[in-house]
Amino acid sequence: MPLISSDDCVFCDIVRGANPHEIVYEDAEFLGFLDKYPLNPGHTQVIPKSHYRWVWDMESANLGFLFMKAQRITKALQAVFDTEWIIADTGGIGVPHAHVHLVPRFEDDGHGELPDPKILREIPDQEMEDIARKIRAEIERMPQ
Ligand SMILES: [Zn+2]
Repeated sequence: MPLISSDDCVFCDIVRGANPHEIVYEDAEFLGFLDKYPLNPGHTQVIPKSHYRWVWDMESANLGFLFMKAQRITKALQAVFDTEWIIADTGGIGVPHAHVHLVPRFEDDGHGELPDPKILREIPDQEMEDIARKIRAEIERMPQ
C-alpha cells in the first residue's frame, strides 16, 4: 500500500475541519467521530490528530493515550446503547491514518463474531446528530 501524505488524507481533512463529521470527543491530540458508514449505530472512529499510517507507528505512550480515549468513548457507548459488547478494531485498510473502530454490538445485529463489512446501517443525519449528542453528554458526565 502506498504511503500517503497528510495533505491527501481523509482523516487529516476531518482534523482540519474540511470534512464535517459528527464529533463525539475532541482534545488537543485526539479526535473521536461517528463513522459515516456505520456497521451499527454508534460506530465511532478514534484517531490521533497527527498523521500516522498505523497505530503501531505511534510512540508507545501516545498509543496508550489513544486507547485511554477509546476506553472513555467505549464506556459512553456502553451506556448510550445499553450493551457491554463494544468491538475495538485497529483496522487501517480503508483510510491510511491510524484509527480505532469502536462498534457497539447486539445479540441480534446480524454480524458474526467480528462485524461483517457488508452490513452497513442507513442512519438519517438527524439520528446521527442525536447519537453524537448522547455520546458527548455521557463523556461529559464522566470524571476526568
Ligand atoms: Zn491523516
